[in-house]
Amino acid sequence: MLQYFDSHCHIRNETVKLPDGIGVIDNAAKISDWNSVINFSQNNLNAYGAIGIHPWYVSDLPDNWDSLMYELLVQFPNLTIGEIGLDKKHPEFVRQLNIFVRQLELAKVLKCGVHIHCFGAWDIMREILIKQDCNALPFVLFHRFNGVISDWIKWENVFFSYSPVKKFRRILLTPQNRILLETDSDNAANIVEWTDVVVNESKILKENFVNNALRMLNNGQIA
Ligand SMILES: [Zn+2]
Repeated sequence: MLQYFDSHCHIRNETVKLPDGIGVIDNAAKISDWNSVINFSQNNLNAYGAIGIHPWYVSDLPDNWDSLMYELLVQFPNLTIGEIGLDKKHPEFVRQLNIFVRQLELAKVLKCGVHIHCFGAWDIMREILIKQDCNALPFVLFHRFNGVISDWIKWENVFFSYSPVKKFRRILLTPQNRILLETDSDNAANIVEWTDVVVNESKILKENFVNNALRMLNNGQIA
């Protein structure tokens, strides 16, 4: 039985065994992570994998990065796409945009959920997701969500994920059937403490975090 779910982490030691009762979504940041995400998610029953190019790592990609990614997504249909997105604090914003849009195109073709990082670029994020019809994707997870909830509430496929924070204002405004928790770390066991803190502060039922994650994955028909 799953008791906790870390909806966004980066476990780069693929020999780690996931503790009982914890589910995770393990995200890649760059091409060199992809194999480890695949191995870790294949070797642990409650681990789900996402491969992608993070906006911090858009330099020095091989020309065929997108076909490499496409082939793996076809070969391993339980994979989703992440971590992808836009970050105004990081260089090469135009390149970030191109690579992000290309990955959204792959998501549409493959009917695949996406895990998004967005910092300082919410206006353009919204513009792109509308233009790319991303409200039709199986799911859109905003990791470390720091945008405006009311901008996205009508998108029924959007889920809001939070890593440890001191202020709970946004968490308390988030619909209880679309909230997720994450460690954004390499140690999924940290999700236990963070979940217990949120349950205490918010009175959200603990099982919501597991149920929401599984429902989200299930929209993408990931078993
Ligand atoms: Zn991350």
